Amino acid sequence: MSSATHKRYEPQAIEDRRQAAWRERDAFRTPSLAEDQPHLYIKPSAPFTSGNIHIGHVRSYSIGDAYARFRRARGEAVLFAFGFDAFGLPAELGAIAGGESPSDWVSRCAAHMTGQLERLGFSFDWERSFLSSDAIMYRWSQWLFLVLLDAGLIYRGTGTVDWCENCQTTLASIQVEPGGTCWRCHGPVRLIELPQWYLRISAYLEENDRRLDELAASGIWDEVALASQQIVLGRLDGVEVDLRSGDGAELSVFTPHADALPDARFVLMSPRHPDADSWACDPAVHEQLEQLRSGGWERSSREAETIPVIDTGRALLGFDESPLPVLVSPLVDSRFGPTVVLGTPTRDRSDEVIARRLGIDFPEAAAAGGSAGPTGAVPLDGRSDEHAAGASSATAPQSRPAVRYRAFDFTISRQRSWGTPIPIVYCEKCGTVPVPREQLPVLLPLDIRPTGTGNPLAELEEFVQTTCPDCDGPARRETDTLDCHFDALWLWIPACVPAEARGESLEDMLLLPDLRHWLPSERLVAGSDSGNFVFDQRIVTKALRDLGPLAFLADGEPFAGCLFHEMVVSGGRKMSKHLGNVVDPDELVERYGADTVRLAVLYAARPQKSLNWSDSAVLHCHRFLTQVWEYSHAKLAEAPSEGDAGTRVSEAGGEDEQIRDKTEHLRAKLSEWCENGVRRITADMESLETHSAVRNVMRLFERIKGFEKRVIERQGELGAANSDALIEALTVLAQVLGPFAPHLAEELWIAFGNDEHGAQTPWPGVSFQVPA
Ligand SMILES: [Zn+2]
Ligand SMILES: [Zn+2]
Repeated sequence: MSSATHKRYEPQAIEDRRQAAWRERDAFRTPSLAEDQPHLYIKPSAPFTSGNIHIGHVRSYSIGDAYARFRRARGEAVLFAFGFDAFGLPAELGAIAGGESPSDWVSRCAAHMTGQLERLGFSFDWERSFLSSDAIMYRWSQWLFLVLLDAGLIYRGTGTVDWCENCQTTLASIQVEPGGTCWRCHGPVRLIELPQWYLRISAYLEENDRRLDELAASGIWDEVALASQQIVLGRLDGVEVDLRSGDGAELSVFTPHADALPDARFVLMSPRHPDADSWACDPAVHEQLEQLRSGGWERSSREAETIPVIDTGRALLGFDESPLPVLVSPLVDSRFGPTVVLGTPTRDRSDEVIARRLGIDFPEAAAAGGSAGPTGAVPLDGRSDEHAAGASSATAPQSRPAVRYRAFDFTISRQRSWGTPIPIVYCEKCGTVPVPREQLPVLLPLDIRPTGTGNPLAELEEFVQTTCPDCDGPARRETDTLDCHFDALWLWIPACVPAEARGESLEDMLLLPDLRHWLPSERLVAGSDSGNFVFDQRIVTKALRDLGPLAFLADGEPFAGCLFHEMVVSGGRKMSKHLGNVVDPDELVERYGADTVRLAVLYAARPQKSLNWSDSAVLHCHRFLTQVWEYSHAKLAEAPSEGDAGTRVSEAGGEDEQIRDKTEHLRAKLSEWCENGVRRITADMESLETHSAVRNVMRLFERIKGFEKRVIERQGELGAANSDALIEALTVLAQVLGPFAPHLAEELWIAFGNDEHGAQTPWPGVSFQVPA
């Protein structure tokens, strides 16, 4: 190869050139609504404004971007945009460390992370990106809070929080050191009881459960995503029986062990069960219950060996009329939800431990048999395989099939200053008053500088003092803010709305045709730790369907499909600064280029598998792209120009025809390889098997090189027809490489004499109308 025809692969120059061209032609702008064009919304995860894009982000967005580019390459209109999850503790801690305001911290982080993502060439519609901490955005949280409050799906309850007396502040669990001390002052942390706002997800657990079969049947919810929903739900199948006490009181009791009812030895009740107070009515017992509820146990072990158990001193009549003592313990909650269950020591190890602790007799022999049944852990599918069996003797109470869920209502409020203000005021005369919707947003003061002590928002009198919307009298604002988990409940919606419409009222925005056009999202691509977010988004979508705003989503599902990918690990361990095994994407991009890094994270593992980082995948992919680049340019340079080919045919037509005949079967084979390759890669991408798709692209390149080798073996040179066929095959290769290594692919596409346009090199067999 002469130096004139040798074109070095210089990713930095190529990527700069392509990214400038994409910006110039506004390549990733969300297409305007056209119902007759196939269209879809691909939802990437919403990154925390943590400061840096890490290699896990690169994996996540490389999968999502490959999918977005694949669908665009087939002529479909794609919405691909996200908002930063900008509120919450990481930003607060970052701001404390940097001695700046959280709002400055998140703006800086978001700008830096955006730059990193742009350098990687991800095809997000940046015009639609946003920070969840922008006032115009967090009014979504406030609006949602009011709507759900109105519907009775948000309520005020009491919860326990970690509290540091020195710092006069509540602590998140990650701020409590392993020994139970404060991260800041290392003083002791204790639990205190505080009024909290709760989200009533219990209202939609049953439907979230029921819809899982439909999601599974859709074929576009992958196994990891489905399993996550079952795990969060925590469904347990069993039976319910009505038991009576000697004094006539009645209680419905659940058990997953339908076939072992007579083995029950006690009844275990959650302290959150609505009847707990009436069963723990003895004053001394009631005091214990109150203590338990105020949370003294939470810092201690949650194991059956040490968890508090209160004996109410009362009993229910069991299956052979023998008494079953009624006990109260939070052990029930984590396993069955806030319910009441039969204690069956022969079937359940925790029950066995409780029985021994309380000196309750049970038949030992059966226990040793260790028969199946949940002992805290449930099978991956979240269901017990024992289905309801009305196994009861003639004298025993009748049982009926029943289901319990471990998932339950959770708190959505935090005693922190960097969060969405809760639109509630407290008036001495009127009590708790919601801020009217037309007065939203309740603005968060931006000059707050958290220090780790106190609650800066509660100390800011100009925020706290307000007037009551009902009576105009003096009132105080709620100084708790919403947990950023609550922001996540709507974070998937605003990308569907054009940026210029964001100033409109939420009611107007919800009526825009855009939401109906793009929702539900065709695919969520997110990390496998997103199960809780998705579960709660599915709950709230159902609530908003029933309340009207999302009535057009009949099944109440925000995501038609869902892909959860696993993490990137190193040496089998989670990457962390502490272990010194962190991979810096910026360094990799600088050294090898964005295309190589993107290709490598896709090549190295199936999305559903952990990606154990090794540089060999990067080196392999870099070698591959270098070869594709240099080989393609070499073949282009060697190819006879059209004029030359014409001259040759007219001068020595007969001889050339013969040469053509000798290699015709090879050309046929090549075109068959291309067709098969495209078919496989298309199928891979339809099912988001990006890892298999990349491998099939690599195989296709080997086939193409093999074709040239065979032709040369046969006749010593390529000849015009074979050269044409080779270039054609390399063009197909560039097209199928487009979703994975988009910069290099488009440069080759152009080098082969095609026009650049739109978002993407077209998929083989797809022709686009080039806009005038
Ligand atoms: Zn402290
Ligand atoms: Zn009032």
